[in-house]
Amino acid sequence: MKKQIIKALSFITVFALCVSMFIPFGYSEAKAAEKKVKLNKKKITLTTGDWKKLKLKNLDYEIDDIEWSTTDKAVAKVSRKGWVVALVKGECTIKAKVKATGKTYKCKVTVNAPDMSKRVIDPEKPIIALSFDDGPGPNTSALLETLASYGATATFFMCYANGSGFRVYSDVVREVYNSGNEVANHTQNHPQLTKCSSAKIDEEVNGNAEKLADLVGKGQRFLLRPPYGSFNDTVKQIANVPIIIWSVDSLDWKYKKESNCTELIMKEVKAQARDGGIILMHDIHKTSCEAVKTVLPWLIQQGYQVCSVSEMFEARGVELENGVSYSKCITAAEYKANKAK
Ligand SMILES: [Zn+2]
Repeated sequence: MKKQIIKALSFITVFALCVSMFIPFGYSEAKAAEKKVKLNKKKITLTTGDWKKLKLKNLDYEIDDIEWSTTDKAVAKVSRKGWVVALVKGECTIKAKVKATGKTYKCKVTVNAPDMSKRVIDPEKPIIALSFDDGPGPNTSALLETLASYGATATFFMCYANGSGFRVYSDVVREVYNSGNEVANHTQNHPQLTKCSSAKIDEEVNGNAEKLADLVGKGQRFLLRPPYGSFNDTVKQIANVPIIIWSVDSLDWKYKKESNCTELIMKEVKAQARDGGIILMHDIHKTSCEAVKTVLPWLIQQGYQVCSVSEMFEARGVELENGVSYSKCITAAEYKANKAK
């Protein structure tokens, strides 16, 4: 009886040994092969506007074999080839699913807004300037936060007394200035300057500039956008600063009551946006400030660096002259051609 028990025990031991030697061996080999497949990055930190290529290592595949996705397309999007574009400050995960095995590989993405004081605008890449008229108003501060989170800046053409203006929102003028955005002139009361007397033009334009200077510092030049984009030689002469019109009319004021306002604004922007262009919007409308959250990621995804009017002209080496009007700047190609001369 004892012998039989010992026999049975040794049989079980040998069997167990065999199992432990062979089965796990085969299992771990398969696991090791699987482990070799991995994303080239598990974790990346990007700045808004950055592009980064992710790829699966140790796997023979065609583009269509992998399904790329993001957990938050507002933060970062991914192309079907694995190119990640960082859009706004935040975090998300990019996933690559291998269709054949059903396995998903992940990369954690952190997007930071750039330090605006250190931001460098590359003149050889697309640039577009963003401008807001008729403020400041109750939505302007929130808009500044939106711009910062996308690493973008804009020019704010402001009125002293159109609506509430900076007669009421004087602190917002300082906020615009201190956040690295551009403070600019849109007259005191928003009249059509071509219908005004010389004395009135002076009061409206230069009076508004003085009031802006009181808030953000004397001795600086404020670009002028005449209301309705309407000006003549008298206006040019009296204002004696660069006159800035626009090349991309978002028509945001017209669409503000439409339920699909953002979509309509996007249609205009998509149709008119060009390198060196100036986009016109109005920060007094809440709907416009909301639409910026869709306009900005689209522009960034198209490769545009979004900045103020003065920043764009400075980057491209174009001097803004007093008494001259501008509706756009030169393109990257024109900049390169100028440089080669
Ligand atoms: Zn206006």
